[in-house]
Amino acid sequence: MSHTKYVFVTGGVASSLGKGIISASLGKLLQARGLRVTIQKLDPYINIDPGTLNPYEHGECYVTEDGAETDLDLGHYERFLNTNTSRANSVTTGRIYQTVIDRERKGDYLGKTVQVIPHITDEIKQRIRQLGETGNYDIVITEIGGTVGDIESLPYVESVRQLKYELGQHNSIVIHLTLIPYLKTSGELKTKPTQNSVKMLLESGVQPDILACRTEHSLNDELKQKIALFCNVTPESVIESIDADTIYDVPLLMKKEQLDKVVLKKLNIEQYNDTDLTRWGEFLYKLRNPISKIKIGLVGKYVELKDAYKSIAEAIIHASAYHQCKVEVEWIHSEDLENLSDEALHQTLGGLNGILVAPGFGARGIEGKIKAIQFAREHKIPFLGICLGMQCAVIEFARHVIGWADANSTEFDPSSSYPVIGFMEGQSTGMHKGGTMRLGAYCCQIKAGSHAYQAYGKNEISERHRHRYEFNNEYLADFKKHGMTATGHNPEKSLVEIVEIPSHPWFVGVQFHPEYKSTVMNPHPLFIGFIQAALSVKKEKQAPVVNNSKE
Ligand code: GLN
Repeated sequence: MSHTKYVFVTGGVASSLGKGIISASLGKLLQARGLRVTIQKLDPYINIDPGTLNPYEHGECYVTEDGAETDLDLGHYERFLNTNTSRANSVTTGRIYQTVIDRERKGDYLGKTVQVIPHITDEIKQRIRQLGETGNYDIVITEIGGTVGDIESLPYVESVRQLKYELGQHNSIVIHLTLIPYLKTSGELKTKPTQNSVKMLLESGVQPDILACRTEHSLNDELKQKIALFCNVTPESVIESIDADTIYDVPLLMKKEQLDKVVLKKLNIEQYNDTDLTRWGEFLYKLRNPISKIKIGLVGKYVELKDAYKSIAEAIIHASAYHQCKVEVEWIHSEDLENLSDEALHQTLGGLNGILVAPGFGARGIEGKIKAIQFAREHKIPFLGICLGMQCAVIEFARHVIGWADANSTEFDPSSSYPVIGFMEGQSTGMHKGGTMRLGAYCCQIKAGSHAYQAYGKNEISERHRHRYEFNNEYLADFKKHGMTATGHNPEKSLVEIVEIPSHPWFVGVQFHPEYKSTVMNPHPLFIGFIQAALSVKKEKQAPVVNNSKE
């Protein structure tokens, strides 16, 4: 294509209607036709990035290859499109204002009064165009966070109005995602909230081109025509977005509704190849038709909010489809484990085929995580520890195998006599919290013969990071002597990236975050390996004991 075209996705009526999934699904459909697509998220909050946000606020903080801490929707974009996003794909009001204010301090505005229009909107527009100007994409999809009508969203909607005008006809479109509520008592689907939401957009000077209507029940033609009439769109531009049992079904549902066709038509892009979703369909088939079943315990301290572990949950789904195995995830609150008797602990963890200990920050729930790890180690249950989960595995081993009773991370006990996890070089207590961790992709060399090597099938990998503390190399020899080995290292800094217990069926702790790189088309090797191990150990346990002795 000669130049980039833009699709803006706005939301109305209510939040949490799934703009991220609609954007990712459209991206997938266009990509499956051979177009080069990227998706960007504009978040209206004033934080510079979600890195400093408590996971209870906005769910998981997703990390890109280039080390940007971003909204979890970027995870969906990567998982659906199987392509990397970057810092440029994630914009917040905080970052926009920071840039404009820095420029003002430098005197770049030459004495002008700095205002929302044009200075803030110019910066927003520049951030949207920037992705198109790389020349890497035929289509840039920009998802505007929040709901139309929010005070915070106004500058973004205004920027869309200006951009639509500047880009000219057929170079940009707006898809507005709304809700069609169902009234049980009268058995009716109601269109008024959608009409009102479109009116609100019109007040800001933006006419949506396509309406994606989230609904519990199918929209008939009559209803689509009614919405079309009231909202100045053609009936074919009213797209039903019905509730799906898995988010991975949405691209197929959108294809059925011909969303991609309508988008291409509105953007004047002559028919590209037909969508090829064969592999996607295979994934869905395997997901829906499992031939085995296991139960994995996910131990964390934010388990009340499943979004806090979004990428981990999705990585488990990708790997489960790979094995055509139904993985039931038991969400276990680490604090709940802390005061359990041995018997109660057995009851909670004994039936699990695998235990995954999640990443995290701060001391709350640490002792529960350590208890879960001890159980996995002693009962030979396959274990995957991610970031803090790996650090806790190191602490557990030091305390209960090596015998250093007060071993700890200096994050939780700065006066421990055995600080087996400590501050990384270049980090300090005086440091600002925002964007100062070890972030993004780093190389890791893997030892041949390890479980990690078996999983990856190679000895050099690259994975994304988000941490401040690390394995304390002073103790490396002691750990090795007692049976825990470092099987992965960062070659430049000798940081320990992976620890394993070779005498255990599958005990792997990783300092990095494999979950960020798992996609539908490329399920992550470590999650594949973990589920494989859980399946194998389960089979072994179930196999009848054959007594060959002749006595
Ligand atoms: N709190 C730990 C650190 O900063 C682990 C971080 C994480 O799990 N992402 O190193």
